[in-house]
Amino acid sequence: MKKLKQAGIACTLLLLLVMGSSWGFLVHRTTHQLAVYELPNEVQGFFYRHLDYLVKNAPRPDTRRNEDSTEATKHFIDIEYYGKDAENTMPATWDAAVAKYTKDSLLKYGHLPYVIVDMKAKLTHAFATANEDSILFYAADLGHYIGDANVPLHTSINYDGQLSNQKGLHALWESMIPEIEIEQFNLYGNHTATYLANPTAAVWKAIRRSYALVPDVFAKELEVSKQFTEAQKFRIQMRKGKEVKYYTTEFAKAYAASLHNTINEQLVNTSNMIADFWYTCWVDGGKPNMDKVFNTSLTQAETERLKAETESYQKNTLIKDGYLISKKKEQ
Ligand SMILES: [Zn+2]
Repeated sequence: MKKLKQAGIACTLLLLLVMGSSWGFLVHRTTHQLAVYELPNEVQGFFYRHLDYLVKNAPRPDTRRNEDSTEATKHFIDIEYYGKDAENTMPATWDAAVAKYTKDSLLKYGHLPYVIVDMKAKLTHAFATANEDSILFYAADLGHYIGDANVPLHTSINYDGQLSNQKGLHALWESMIPEIEIEQFNLYGNHTATYLANPTAAVWKAIRRSYALVPDVFAKELEVSKQFTEAQKFRIQMRKGKEVKYYTTEFAKAYAASLHNTINEQLVNTSNMIADFWYTCWVDGGKPNMDKVFNTSLTQAETERLKAETESYQKNTLIKDGYLISKKKEQ
């Protein structure tokens, strides 16, 4: 949602839900919670003790964009700008990328992969220095940027369909559909946090996977639109004296169905990847004894609750059982 200024206030599709968000707050929060269930014992107690913090702060980097003008381009990468096949050929390190593309270009066209690698280093350092506040801060931020890397339209210059007369797709894919469909999603990733010997490679793998989904994001919208009249596809509302267009729920559902499980899969890929990164940072930070250093041995009540939540997670009944924090009213 970097180029809102360019989008202009008069844009016909008002994307209120996404305009300060990415993946929508709902998914960012959800993936942070799911990641905690995927962690091994050595770190799980600590993360579970701070589950509310992690969930609450999962969208924080998006809100920071209001105060910090350098924040926006941390959330995406316009791959096409960096040349043909850039998703396979961009340098692994920030310095090498600066040498190849210049810092100005990276700061303008997005540098999300490098931000994730940088956050990984910061979280690792926080573990190594046993700084609890920093661990929590960077764990929440790292998880957020990992989430963005798993959203196809965060990897393309046509980030909102604005170049193909499909404006509004960004919000539809990452916010509106998850809001409508999350109860039908399978949130169980069947994954245990795995040590990443090469975190940078894992980041680029995710970027490539997202980018590979981009053509379908556009193609399916065109395909499904053929089955809808303009009046069936959009509903028009007046806001502050202006007509604004929203996709209808019917269209959103038909579009989601045409994408098969893609959005659900990317949500699960996000939480799996967050768990891998949190765990890897802890290992690379020297595997501090979290329970001892931070006094996070779970109480019996917490242990029982975590057990119940884990079982619920494995059965994919977190929402039904009332455990998914992002779906609770106060969120
Ligand atoms: Zn973001």
